[in-house]
Amino acid sequence: MTIPSKSLTAGQDYPQSWSQFCGWFHDEISCVNYLLKMRWPEEFTCPKCEAKGDPYQLSRKRLMCRSCRYQCTVTVGTIFEKTRIPLRDWFAAAWYITNQKNGVSALGLKSALGLGSYQTAWSMLHKLRRAMVNPLRDKLGGVVEVDETFLGGPETGKRSSVQYTAKKVTVIIAVEVLAPKGFGRIRLRRISRASKENALSFIQEEVEKGTIIQTDGSPIYHALPDLGYIREKIVHLGAKDPAHITMPGVHRVASLLKRWLLGTFQGSVNSEHLDYYLDEFSFRFNRRASKSRGLLFYRLLEQSVITAPITYQGIKISKHNI
Ligand SMILES: [Zn+2]
Repeated sequence: MTIPSKSLTAGQDYPQSWSQFCGWFHDEISCVNYLLKMRWPEEFTCPKCEAKGDPYQLSRKRLMCRSCRYQCTVTVGTIFEKTRIPLRDWFAAAWYITNQKNGVSALGLKSALGLGSYQTAWSMLHKLRRAMVNPLRDKLGGVVEVDETFLGGPETGKRSSVQYTAKKVTVIIAVEVLAPKGFGRIRLRRISRASKENALSFIQEEVEKGTIIQTDGSPIYHALPDLGYIREKIVHLGAKDPAHITMPGVHRVASLLKRWLLGTFQGSVNSEHLDYYLDEFSFRFNRRASKSRGLLFYRLLEQSVITAPITYQGIKISKHNI
């Protein structure tokens, strides 16, 4: 399944305001129909036999293929599969999350939606965060800065230091550098340590071959030319310019990330779930130029229907290997 790249219109493809949202998604069936159109914009395709054509609609959510009589729901194979939470609540959660400037906490979501339990809010939020990484996304290209940063651990001399975790966590950052100025998209990943293996597998999975990669003098990046990349070494030590001038992209992203984590989670970030927070940060950063919050809502739902289902237990033990 591919994400349709058609241009989208506010008020037609996605709601442009909360009042329009309430008008469109006033009941469960309107949400089901919206998902149907999103999953199968042209024509229903049977997930089993791949036959095309309108299915029998057995109930609000249940469909049956006219060819092989396979029954499925509109939510099968998505993060909403087998959910007992009404789709309207899911939609409202997606709207709420994409309309907050900062990140969202489970407690915030629970009170905004009037949900019955913290556990429900927590699990919805984590599922939606999981959908924030587009599984079909393109790799970064052009000119890309790559460097590592550290989160958490004791930071001396800073009153506002963020205690995410007892020990430091290493995050590797890739940022597209645009000409003549500005930054494009980013990718972030928590790594066990700044090693050659970790750095190179991150770059190979996230950055197109042939890209100019700017790094510091660290030997972990030495093999980049052997892997088809053009390495530009930018040496901090002894350089006249401080790091934020020589590597402005990673410096800016790292400081925004730290500020965002502090503002959103009040300094208590569970390192177990840090990967999801990095995804949420990237989702917001990569769409920062988007003028319409409604479009962000659409993108999040669109990614939700192509993200495989996961259970509550699955989230709790997930190691985030996407
Ligand atoms: Zn079929």
